[in-house]
Amino acid sequence: MNLLAELLASDDALLPARLPGGAQVERLAAAVWQITPPTAAAGRALIVSAGIHGDETAPVEVLCGLVSALCSGALVPRVPLLLVFGNLQALRAARRYLDDDLNRLFGSACVSSSREAPRAAALAAAVDAFCAQHAGPLHLDLHSAIRDSRYACFAIAPRKDSGPLGGAPQALLAACGIEAVLLTGAAAPTFSARSARLHGCEAYTFELGRVRRLGDGVAGEFAAAERVLRALIAAEPMPVPVAQLRVFRVSRELIKHSDAFRLTLPADAANFTGFDPGAMIAEDGPLQWHAEAGELIVFPNPAVKPGLRAGLMVVADPASDV
Ligand SMILES: [Zn+2]
Repeated sequence: MNLLAELLASDDALLPARLPGGAQVERLAAAVWQITPPTAAAGRALIVSAGIHGDETAPVEVLCGLVSALCSGALVPRVPLLLVFGNLQALRAARRYLDDDLNRLFGSACVSSSREAPRAAALAAAVDAFCAQHAGPLHLDLHSAIRDSRYACFAIAPRKDSGPLGGAPQALLAACGIEAVLLTGAAAPTFSARSARLHGCEAYTFELGRVRRLGDGVAGEFAAAERVLRALIAAEPMPVPVAQLRVFRVSRELIKHSDAFRLTLPADAANFTGFDPGAMIAEDGPLQWHAEAGELIVFPNPAVKPGLRAGLMVVADPASDV
């Protein structure tokens, strides 16, 4: 079976109803499958999503590889799984999205008439159905980055509580090759934040490697994460850390007030770029923002509409040191 080719061809890709080893497969929506092992779970249920952005194809290839291994019996699931291929229309068009960024449609009050809107609703319903059966799953939403980053592999961790990140989550991230994690609140309209907000999931958006064309292969950035996914699915011990993890928190948001807004760094500046203390970060008419000691910028984007966030300032989180 060439799942990737089937996903690119139509919404009707099918998996066998039963996998080697006896796990049951249920299709909850187009390219969304729930897999239930025959015996009681040996570990935490797991949601893996990829392709929420249609041009981020390496994670889609990773997830296709996992599905192939499950179908051949090379990988036998011992925990309940929800496997999600995100924006199928955008994937076929090799675009990030068609009308609306799918990863901005999971807010509490998102109303949209875009082609992405029904897909967001279908994915949300599948997660709700899965979480109704399996409390508190881990949700890993796999992306690849669209800009350079000082840390090639990093994660966003939307969380309802503001405490330090514990040792087990840190071990998980370091085993995936994640070099930096940014702790945020769970109010964001992203897929992973919705799982944290509504279902109390430990949830992450992974930014691994760089966007590349479909078929250009899965780069090494994903090898560590793929090893961890296989271990989680088979309820095997967590692989050893392959990265030194740094934990960051948001210190403030840069809100663009007017079209006069400009950043002092180029629009394509790398994520986690630092500043000298006191250096000007941005200005907007008479307003100026100056860097505090240790502040770095993530997701700089001066092109947003006035009123929206043009960048996120972050600082290391000393409370999460282990
Ligand atoms: Zn993405």
